[in-house]
Amino acid sequence: MRALPMLGALALLSIAGTAQAVTITIVNKDAANAGLNDPTAVEPVGGNPATTAGEQALNVFKKAAEIWGASLAGNVEVKVEASFVPLQCSETYGTLGSAGPMSSYWDASFPNSSVWYPIALANQLAGRDLATTKADIQARFNSELGKSGCLSSRGGWYMGFDGNHGNRIDLLTVILHEFGHGLGFLTFVNSSTGEEMSGRADIYETFLRDRTKNKLWTELTDDERKASALNSRNVSWDGAAVSEAASSVLSTSTPTPLMYTPATLESGSSVCHWDKSLSPNLLMEPVINNDLTHGLDLTTALMKDIGWTLTSQQ
Ligand SMILES: [Zn+2]
Repeated sequence: MRALPMLGALALLSIAGTAQAVTITIVNKDAANAGLNDPTAVEPVGGNPATTAGEQALNVFKKAAEIWGASLAGNVEVKVEASFVPLQCSETYGTLGSAGPMSSYWDASFPNSSVWYPIALANQLAGRDLATTKADIQARFNSELGKSGCLSSRGGWYMGFDGNHGNRIDLLTVILHEFGHGLGFLTFVNSSTGEEMSGRADIYETFLRDRTKNKLWTELTDDERKASALNSRNVSWDGAAVSEAASSVLSTSTPTPLMYTPATLESGSSVCHWDKSLSPNLLMEPVINNDLTHGLDLTTALMKDIGWTLTSQQ
């Protein structure tokens, strides 16, 4: 957050009604005594019982993993490397976190046989771990938040689960957002050049429609994609699941919600979020809003469009 046709075996599982929630595991990448290993004593807060800063943060990651895991079905564990590192920040504006897939994959047997899939999703489609030597998602969060020079007036991260963050930044909301990118809410297109990764489209891109040209991003040239990334409030998500869910989630009834494409490119943020104009505020907008409530709102429908199977809780 600035601040990503089933295979035979899976189809059989679905028919049996046992599509299970995917397991999301946190891999702690922090050094001793820092971030997730910070031994500083703290009071339990907002339903988070831990009594050290590191353990408390790890509990928030686990809560986010539970929330996402309850919505997405899959038989292959998703491993998320998590750490706290200094990210770009000032007293007025800061990057809270950033995340993305650690690799991507395409295969002729996938629902779309010619495009890149983020590894966490590719693994579910294949029914096995395609990249056994590394994790699937890298997620980093700002270690400087609340310190002098980095949004110090906000007082740092809120570690509770209850949303009573007051003036603080709700870590659970930010982790839910970043996991969204890692699970597939992003494009691999280089938005400053319009070039696709290794000349191949990605699954997210196949649902982006430029309204001015009335063409999908996969039908555009590199130059046209580059221009489309700046085509403010003229790029929308054109997917069946989002269209179906939009009327129940959004107050403004539109089957093809707008993506965030500001006229000045925001690398890593442009195209990879919902537009700020959508109402109510959504988890995957580019800037955190205080009224978010740990729901995944329209995000799960987008995940369904790109190929995730949702659990029956959806
Ligand atoms: Zn984001």
